[in-house]
Amino acid sequence: MEKTYKEYLEEILCSKVCDDLTESQKQALEAVTELIGFCDYERLCELAKADKDKRCSVMRATWVIDKESKHEKIAHCSHCGKRPVEKKYAVRGNGYVIYHCHAILTDFCPNCGAKMDGETK
Ligand SMILES: [Zn+2]
Repeated sequence: MEKTYKEYLEEILCSKVCDDLTESQKQALEAVTELIGFCDYERLCELAKADKDKRCSVMRATWVIDKESKHEKIAHCSHCGKRPVEKKYAVRGNGYVIYHCHAILTDFCPNCGAKMDGETK
């Protein structure tokens, strides 16, 4: 079976040829190897062409804050309606416990993948 581009690149990175490369050249090879590990070269070319032909669109949304106080921050995605990852913890005081829940507002919705740049669809 013929080797893939990724396998050839990994071979180069592990060979003596690599000893003559600068650190930046090695990083460039590693970056390309990582990239085609996610998505093969042919597919990347198709995606790049589709993007160039304006056949790709980025789903955009925003985090909508439902509730915000010292103890909690609740939000949902304006596209899928689901809540982001939340950090939950308890704070113990003198005979009482206060539960905190804080939404972690990431750049992309972990549920639907929308880019959270404030523009709603
Ligand atoms: Zn979403």
